[in-house]
Amino acid sequence: MALHIIEEANRCLGCKNPQCVEGCPVHTPIPQVIQLFKERRLNEAGELLRRNNPMSAVCALVCNHAAQCEGHCVLGKKGNPVHFSAIESYLSDMYLDRFPLWQGVPIGRRVAVIGSGPAGLTVAVLLRKAGVEVTIFELHSRIGGVMEYGIPAFRLPRTYVARYYKRMLEAGINVRLNTTVGESLRIGDLLRDGYNAVFIGTGAGRAKKLGTPGETRANVYFGIDYLKTPEVCPVGDRVAVIGVGNVGMDVARTVLRNGAREVKLYARSCHVSASSDEVEYTLLDGGEIVTGKLIQAINDVGPVFKNAILDEDGRVTGYEDELWQAEADTTIICVSQMPKNKLELTTPGLQTDDRGLLVVDENCMTTVDGVFGAGDVVLGAMTVVHAVEGAKRAVRGMLDYMGVQV
Ligand code: FAD
Repeated sequence: MALHIIEEANRCLGCKNPQCVEGCPVHTPIPQVIQLFKERRLNEAGELLRRNNPMSAVCALVCNHAAQCEGHCVLGKKGNPVHFSAIESYLSDMYLDRFPLWQGVPIGRRVAVIGSGPAGLTVAVLLRKAGVEVTIFELHSRIGGVMEYGIPAFRLPRTYVARYYKRMLEAGINVRLNTTVGESLRIGDLLRDGYNAVFIGTGAGRAKKLGTPGETRANVYFGIDYLKTPEVCPVGDRVAVIGVGNVGMDVARTVLRNGAREVKLYARSCHVSASSDEVEYTLLDGGEIVTGKLIQAINDVGPVFKNAILDEDGRVTGYEDELWQAEADTTIICVSQMPKNKLELTTPGLQTDDRGLLVVDENCMTTVDGVFGAGDVVLGAMTVVHAVEGAKRAVRGMLDYMGVQV
């Protein structure tokens, strides 16, 4: 590993107009980080990464690098791009253990953060750095959001969030676990209790349903629910996964590690929306992708489909009338997620759009004064790095709203 990343760093051309930076949603200063690394100024490189992206160590492991930084590297046009993710992973991971999180001089402002996924954690850490007193409210018994309850541990080791949590407590960030906002406690209560601003980072934790008969059977799960605790969901030998996005790939790879012998992922067209890396790994693990199947129902035997009629370019032009029965012990539905609506229902004036996503302005303020939002609850199901990008904008908006010079 050490040799590999040194070789990779030495391959970097240090471009004047680095396309890798353009390709990264948070514009990680890649050439500067690599230069510091080559000069063995590791602490400075780690600090630069963390300052730009408090979730850097996670992004190094789970970002779609082929579509972002590494996909934009000029060396990739004729050969292999610089594998910056490996360098970032080494630096950020080591830096987390070596250095505490920042703790700014108190400035007499308090903020409530609802949700502890990457959006909420980024906001909490950066506000604390600015000297704000921060309290996180998290409905689960552990922080991390999808990093803890979604992305499988074989892709993102669970120890990472635990190490981060320790650092956050040391930095004086208050965390109230097992607490849902939008039930007994509401945003109005937070404002009554003197928080100067509220941040909503509640993600998109509601599975989209199919709306077909059989969805309520005992042997049917939604992918995001299954992934929370796969060990308590017996799935049998044969599993059908409905949907071929990244969540579907994670579900397939997880069931194959939990005893299933055969996993088929069904797509309604010939298009597979998951990233190419995730697809390759799923196939490598033993998953099989079956295209051109439109789900109609789930019965005793398994899911029932209609077959797609394709034109010569592989585009779906319709579906046959005849039904096609697949066999599966368990069916797992992975056809997207959307935000829950507890906060919308309990906060007067908090508006969402027709997809249930929070409406925010350019400073990430919602339609309620002093209440901000970012991450999946605003964007819909996206990625960790996009949640960080939005959270950084929300921090600037909140500091400005609270009259803090930035
Ligand atoms: P979340 O991570 O969803 O966090 C929201 C938090 O808010 C949760 O902890 C939740 O418990 C809490 N919460 C919700 N409602 C309330 C409430 N009312 N009161 C208190 N707390 C509340 N992205 C990548 O970049 N790479 C990947 O490889 C990747 N893989 C994924 C795999 C899966 C299975 C899934 C589902 C998503 C994946 N993503 C991936 C997407 C990524 O994880 C999300 O885009 C990101 O986590 C969004 O961050 P967030 O902070 O907005 O929300």
